[in-house]
Amino acid sequence: MQLLRAHSLTEAYLYLRVTPCPDCSGGPWQVQDQPAATADAPPQPPPGRALRARCQQCGARREFVLEGVEPPAGGLAPGPAEVINPTPAASEIIDLGQWVSLFYLLVGSADRAADKAETRRLTFQAAQCLDEALKFYAGDDELPPPSAFFVESSRQAFAEHPEKFARQRLRDLRGKLPDHRVMARHLARDANRKERKRWWPFWKS
Ligand SMILES: [Zn+2]
Repeated sequence: MQLLRAHSLTEAYLYLRVTPCPDCSGGPWQVQDQPAATADAPPQPPPGRALRARCQQCGARREFVLEGVEPPAGGLAPGPAEVINPTPAASEIIDLGQWVSLFYLLVGSADRAADKAETRRLTFQAAQCLDEALKFYAGDDELPPPSAFFVESSRQAFAEHPEKFARQRLRDLRGKLPDHRVMARHLARDANRKERKRWWPFWKS
């Protein structure tokens, strides 16, 4: 069992995405007991704060207990428009290097997504990963402090390519994506559309 001080379920899920399995150094983790959501059957996860995950490479199981997150009534599945971290404080579980990696991972997935709603959902998360990365910089500093890196792979990435972690570079990347509120509005509209689709058959019968 591992305690996870996350600001949201989305942050916990992203943590599982970038954290390797201690048994095989591989992964990724897959959250268990979360049947795939469909339009007719929203997920019915177990109650409580424990995220049970299984390593997709070696099959190891691990339980991550959420601290600081009040799970929504619907259970332990993050909503599409969930804000990763509404506070100005930097993450305690995902470091600067990992947020930057997540940004590239998510924009890549957004590019390949099958429909526009999914592209918007992933782009919203990608933009927030940059917002989270930018929370690690102090004052007017152009480079992050050493404390912004929690894991060896990030420290190494910074030592090899400090220019990739220049604050202005991250700000420029963020500037190419839409404003937070604009994206959230679009996502709300997408969710609304899905909701209407779900109820349509009832109207017809
Ligand atoms: Zn493993």
